Amino acid sequence: MDLRYSESEEAFRAGLRAWLAEVLPTLPPKPAPLDWPARRAFDTTWQRMLFDAGYAGIDWPVEGGGRGASPVEQLIYLEELERAHAPYVGVNFVGLLHAGPTVIVEGTPEQRARFLPPILRGDEVWCQGFSEPGAGSDLASLRTRAERDGDEYVVTGQKIWTSHAQVADFCELLVRTGAEDSRHRGITWLILPMDRPGIDFRPLRTIAGSTEFGELFLDGVRVPVANRVGAENDGWRVTMTTLSFERGTAFVGEVLQSMELLRGLRAMARRTGEWDEREVRRRVGHLGAELDALWALARRNVSQAARTGVPGIGGSVYKLALSELRQRIGELGMDLAGPAGLIWGDLPSDSLGASAGVIEAPGTRTVGNTEIVNTWVHGFSRTIAAGTSQIQRNIIAERILGLPKG
Ligand SMILES: Cc1cc2nc3c(=O)[nH]c(=O)nc-3n(C[C@H](O)[C@H](O)[C@H](O)COP(=O)(O)OP(=O)(O)OC[C@H]3O[C@@H](n4cnc5c(N)ncnc54)[C@H](O)[C@@H]3O)c2cc1C
Repeated sequence: MDLRYSESEEAFRAGLRAWLAEVLPTLPPKPAPLDWPARRAFDTTWQRMLFDAGYAGIDWPVEGGGRGASPVEQLIYLEELERAHAPYVGVNFVGLLHAGPTVIVEGTPEQRARFLPPILRGDEVWCQGFSEPGAGSDLASLRTRAERDGDEYVVTGQKIWTSHAQVADFCELLVRTGAEDSRHRGITWLILPMDRPGIDFRPLRTIAGSTEFGELFLDGVRVPVANRVGAENDGWRVTMTTLSFERGTAFVGEVLQSMELLRGLRAMARRTGEWDEREVRRRVGHLGAELDALWALARRNVSQAARTGVPGIGGSVYKLALSELRQRIGELGMDLAGPAGLIWGDLPSDSLGASAGVIEAPGTRTVGNTEIVNTWVHGFSRTIAAGTSQIQRNIIAERILGLPKG
């Protein structure tokens, strides 16, 4: 497809840029990282502002409350949000970026009408209940059981690493409906209302000090059969759709964020004199070139999703490359920061765009040492979340390159 910008697309960009310039100064300060109700309120209020202005669900169908726009407009939207340092999806990540898209592709008309508009309006937040203590990489071995009882499933089991469950209204939940050893053939994709009796969430703390995910215990939780997406025991196929969105398009905005961060690091190196070292220039150049290539791949995934409905298996290539690249950007930042990289927590926890850090880089967005340490620490989880690097390499080897199973 033609990814050059047409006149109408440039008009879309200008309108969005003007709107962002008007509304961003009116936003309240970002809430504290561990204040989950406040974070939900902040993220959903921003989502509602986007919705009211016609900028929610740019590439979602009009029937689902979206704008029904082209993939190019979706990319322009991401570029402009990043350029203006607008808030990103936050706790709306699952609903907006992979549960909603799954319901668009796999849901019934009733499910689309019920679940899509509240996601776009910021009324309802979703989480993802896929992983279990004994089923992470080997997702098909999951054991959370759902027994049919009339118009309901009765669900019992345990999920883990469930991000943002403490503020979620719904959970995209994988359950076993087939025999215990049915693996891929006995899984069903359900929409679990998080206010049902029998749900217990216990947060876990990450090395970054965040309680963004936790354990989800389900004890006889009743879920309407009407909340099943796809047929009973056909949930693995639906899951492949979810994962292709999660890996292929959900992190597209992060390429732009990473480009911005790299520009900040380059400016910082110039200021501190480290830019004179050839090795530093080489690393920055390589990372920049890789980000350019990733942006091209992101554009390809977005346009493929628009053409075929889903981003496809190539999402694994993108996810693998982006998560490993983020780690290398984090390492570069720590190397450039030197001893300042040891300071974390004594400064405002979120100094994005502020000059509160030990390191300042006038002329471009300031990169504070808190951001550098955050990028480095969070980098460790990048190659695990949404499927580990090893699993992506297996998928690429077997399903894209056609190599024999290891
Ligand atoms: C920040 C973060 C957020 C997350 N959020 C969610 C969420 O919201 N919902 C959710 O359901 N899950 C979530 N997860 C879980 C994530 O999907 C799993 O952690 C991931 O799939 C790996 O599973 P595991 O942790 O059980 O590791 P394991 O599967 O036990 O893997 C351990 C190690 O063995 C390697 N390994 C395993 N099998 C193979 C193989 N066949 N070949 C080669 N190597 C192999 C892995 O690569 C890894 O290095 C999140 C994880 C993180 C880090």
